[in-house]
Amino acid sequence: MRSSCVSVTVGANPTRLLSEKRITQSQVRQIHAYIVKTNLVTHALCVAKLVNALSQSSNPYDAVSVFAHALSRFHHLRGIEFSVPPALKACGKSCAFEEGKQIMGFILKTHLWNDPFLARSVFDKMPTRDLISWNSLLSGYLKAGEIEIAREVFEKMPQRDLVSCNAMIDGYGKHGMCELAEEVFMDMGVRDVVTWTSMISAFVLNHQPRKGLCLFREMLSLGVRPDAPAVVSVLSAIADLGFLEEGKWVHNYIFTNKVHQSCSFIGSALINMYAKCGRIENAYHVFRSLCHRQNIGDWNSMISGLALHGLGREAIEIFQDMERVELEPDDITFLGLLSACNHGGLMDEGQFYFETMQVKYKIVPKIQHYGCIVDLFGRAGRLEEALGVIDEMPFEPDVLIWKAILSASMKHNNVVMGHTAGLRAIELAPQDSSCYVLLSNIYAKAGRWDDVSKVRSLMRKRRVRKIPGCSSILADGKVHEFLVGKAMDVGYNQSVLSMLEEIVCKLKSEGYEPDLNQVFIDIEGGEKESQLTLHSEKMALAFGLLNSHQGSPIHIVKNLRICCDCHRFMQLVSKIYNRRVIVRDQNRFHHFDKGFCSCRNHW
Ligand code: ZN
Ligand code: ZN
Repeated sequence: MRSSCVSVTVGANPTRLLSEKRITQSQVRQIHAYIVKTNLVTHALCVAKLVNALSQSSNPYDAVSVFAHALSRFHHLRGIEFSVPPALKACGKSCAFEEGKQIMGFILKTHLWNDPFLARSVFDKMPTRDLISWNSLLSGYLKAGEIEIAREVFEKMPQRDLVSCNAMIDGYGKHGMCELAEEVFMDMGVRDVVTWTSMISAFVLNHQPRKGLCLFREMLSLGVRPDAPAVVSVLSAIADLGFLEEGKWVHNYIFTNKVHQSCSFIGSALINMYAKCGRIENAYHVFRSLCHRQNIGDWNSMISGLALHGLGREAIEIFQDMERVELEPDDITFLGLLSACNHGGLMDEGQFYFETMQVKYKIVPKIQHYGCIVDLFGRAGRLEEALGVIDEMPFEPDVLIWKAILSASMKHNNVVMGHTAGLRAIELAPQDSSCYVLLSNIYAKAGRWDDVSKVRSLMRKRRVRKIPGCSSILADGKVHEFLVGKAMDVGYNQSVLSMLEEIVCKLKSEGYEPDLNQVFIDIEGGEKESQLTLHSEKMALAFGLLNSHQGSPIHIVKNLRICCDCHRFMQLVSKIYNRRVIVRDQNRFHHFDKGFCSCRNHW
């Protein structure tokens, strides 16, 4: 018999023999016997080849037996997954449903489902498909980030349950497909806490904090108790919105319901929320009281929070404490620290920590770290050095870096550099209106009106829309919004406008001159001035003066950067009306008091 030469020869390689296309059934049986006898069941690839060969034979149950034998002896046999698809196929062919289920159970219990391609191949060969197997396939794809294939599987599922819907909401949310997540959410007849949490996080991740917060309220009103991930998400929504009262409520909820005991992210979420809502003292308090000394997230949030308020020295102190307790800082720690030095105007310290990061802690700086240093030099008017950093860094500069140079050129009247940086920024982000506006303002300040109109016509041609300035303020427990030029609640328009007129009048008597360079549109002087007066933060401020008690600070949140004119305006109001005004703009906080701003005009 020819087969004798393949199987029993000492030294023959059964794996290779099994790979041969023209192998006969009787040869397979001989190799089977040989493998069992010589204990080759420890060899995963060999087992896989044998199971595969036997699954195609006239007695496919042999394949199931070999697989079961290998599994029973070597539960953690590396590479056993290669045998899974043929073993399942063999189960199907020999109607061994019970064994098929057991194999599925084994797969679900191990890490094997994390491999979506194995999952798919197993799934396709399964004798029967139940909800668990559909869900496992779905989660395999989601874990691998294959959202489109997951979507296909989800749509093909004959029936869906909470698990699959929740998984899809989560997956869509993480891939920027918030509307699809909402669709699934709306279609669900039954929802659990995971459903609500996944939808809230989807909104938060996709920059729709208001919707996230609304959903959280709805969840509470229906009596669903939020879990720790829901609380972390909603705190992030509240931080984005700057709604302090809601944040305090959640803080209280966390402690009454002991949510914090089960989750180490709550501390940093609370610190972040308080810092972004303008209450750095509360952030400190949370940090001191619940800080897990080994939880780097809490430290990082505290440092970034201080950075947001321009409190560079305080951020450095926290960092030094961190070194004292021998907690190893990471790249996020340094990003916070460098940004704190940047917002605090701490030139030498910024350079020192940029070096410390690399030399002492061996952390390779990312483009964001370089961005901080470029910005630091730029704000200080050391534009040549800022360009030097760009030349030295191992990355192509991104739009943020060019925008830093652009702002610095605006501030320090460097038209030549502003021109270069502006063109590069526009090239990298052709739909970002702020690049055009900054460049045009630089030209306007230099009186280069031809260039101003060139930039504007380019903007029109590309249909770039300016993001309208929008500011919000909390008064009487309600959030009031102002869009540049008007109050969202028209009922307030008239009173706000007359108040603004009054303020401008008072300020002018104190030497205030409207800075007409800040007006983008080329219009006549008088009209320019009225347009400038209607910047959203000025309207919010007038509203705040009308609707709050003397002595209480006025908190305003603005979606864009505050302009020079509004900055000056706030400084003067804080002095003349003797009120603290706290403005959070796109980048940071400004605390205005007695005519000064905490940013010391570094922003
Ligand atoms: Zn303004
Ligand atoms: Zn300021």
